[in-house]
Amino acid sequence: MSAEPKKSNNFIRNMIEDAIAKGDHTGDVVTRFPPEPNGYLHIGHAKSICLNFGIADTFKGRCNLRFDDTNPEKESQEYIDAITRDVNWLGYEWDGEIRYASDYFDTLYDFAIELIEKGKAYVCALTAEQMTAYRGTLKEPGKNSPYRDRPVEESLQLFRDMRDGKFQNGELVLRAKIDMASPNMNMRDPILYRIRYAEHHQTGNKWCIYPMYDFTHPISDAMEGITHSLCTLEFEDHRPLYDWVLENTSVPCRPRQTEFARLNLNYTVTSKRKLKRLVDEGHVAGWDDPRMPTVSGLRRRGYTPESIRQFCDMVGVNRAGGTVDVGMLEFAIREDLNARAPRAMCVMRPLKVTLTNYPAAQVETLSLPVHPQDDSMGQRDVPWTRTLYIDRDDFAEEPPRKWKRLAPQQAVRLRGGYVITCREVVRDGQGEIVELLCEYDANTLGVNPEGYKPNGVIHWVSAEDSVEAEVRLYDRLFNHESPDSDKEGDLTDHLNPDSLVIVTGARVERALAEPRQDLPYQFEREGYFFLDPELSGAGRPVFNRTVTLRDSWGKGGN
Ligand code: ATP
Ligand code: MG
Repeated sequence: MSAEPKKSNNFIRNMIEDAIAKGDHTGDVVTRFPPEPNGYLHIGHAKSICLNFGIADTFKGRCNLRFDDTNPEKESQEYIDAITRDVNWLGYEWDGEIRYASDYFDTLYDFAIELIEKGKAYVCALTAEQMTAYRGTLKEPGKNSPYRDRPVEESLQLFRDMRDGKFQNGELVLRAKIDMASPNMNMRDPILYRIRYAEHHQTGNKWCIYPMYDFTHPISDAMEGITHSLCTLEFEDHRPLYDWVLENTSVPCRPRQTEFARLNLNYTVTSKRKLKRLVDEGHVAGWDDPRMPTVSGLRRRGYTPESIRQFCDMVGVNRAGGTVDVGMLEFAIREDLNARAPRAMCVMRPLKVTLTNYPAAQVETLSLPVHPQDDSMGQRDVPWTRTLYIDRDDFAEEPPRKWKRLAPQQAVRLRGGYVITCREVVRDGQGEIVELLCEYDANTLGVNPEGYKPNGVIHWVSAEDSVEAEVRLYDRLFNHESPDSDKEGDLTDHLNPDSLVIVTGARVERALAEPRQDLPYQFEREGYFFLDPELSGAGRPVFNRTVTLRDSWGKGGN
């Protein structure tokens, strides 16, 4: 034990550490991540992934990936593929093969038979409405089903007949026989199996009865030797049932369930059902739309696995819940990219600059660092030519006080290049500024000019030696702090109409015609930008803005 009692901000990790220290836990630590393949993973799932795989790493144990696939109508192979890709991308590897709860359908069936034989489960014919009426309320106990005491033999036969397709959807169910007066509603003879004529993505048409989550989960955990079954707080009330199933069946081992608080982020929804709605109704371009809080959306936007893991680490794991500021996620990616992203220049709204005292045929290759604080990333070539582009926003004909950019008869340094002074403004027939005639000072490369002081430093590209790019500026998808908990309004009322601004005709350094695809770039003074793999064409890059340089949310910045 170290001298200072250092505790992590992850109470589950601390709990396991203590249990091992006291000798209460021996042997491997085995966890699982159990997604239902009914949608793409979101940032909330990332927390669960980092927790389950992280615990296994910390204690040199194992973590399984198991699809909880007991609702065939809502599930699909597309979701299975997307989920496995996302878990891998986050940097984790599951133990052995991918597992499916459906791998245990035969075993689950056998344990159901065992419960019936022990008089702990029965086949019930109440309709759904009757079942609700019999169930009672939080204040009143329920009533026993009239089928509760039917003979074991009869239940066994009916259950087999259910499996053999002799009944219609919803005609019969198998229920646990526990306690209709329990203060915990989950213990009032919960349903274990229902009839569903649905083709299953793993088992095809083999089954027309499917086990319920509360029966499937503890048994799947036990079949895999899971020691720590970690789930979110809404399952706390289900824990007595989880334990009941394990106590009353002859499973090979005894996993323990521990609950932790879900991750909630402001300005974001983290529910697959609601995210699916955004996709289905066309409010976004798909599950991997860069505005989506899905792992695939974040990836396409330029988030790195490291930044998401770092974010989950900062959030910690506790039972208290609460809402995390989405600014923390943005902080994590900014930190990561500030250290690692190669630098480049992109002029969003190009304004032509002609250097009247620079020879037309001349090209000078300037050498700029790829990263100003990291020499190991090397240098990049940036051509200096007679015509250049600067951003329209960096020129003001009548500059405000303390203007740090270009203005008539004033000087500014072009990043990594020379100091230029604006001599004349050229307009088109409509009076719009189309060009600036400037002079460059040949004695200012890397040194201050003599006798005058430039206003500041702006970015630029060569007009001849740059390529056109489309740039997509993303903002928060919702402009409401908790878009899904507004009782009066609908989720879609709070969509931010400015969540996507498309800038066409931007100009980037020539090297970015074939940009890196592993990391976003920092476009100097603009933010971090990542090549969109779907939308980009050969020599015509499309960049997604990952995040701005600073937090400008709500301050009129974009
Ligand atoms: P959703 O409500 O988005 O459908 P879910 O809980 O139904 O989420 P599952 O596929 O069943 O989704 O979740 C897999 C695992 O991820 C579960 O253990 C679940 O508890 C966990 N999980 C889901 N959402 C969050 C979240 N917001 N924060 C932390 N863990 C989460
Ligand atoms: Mg679920």
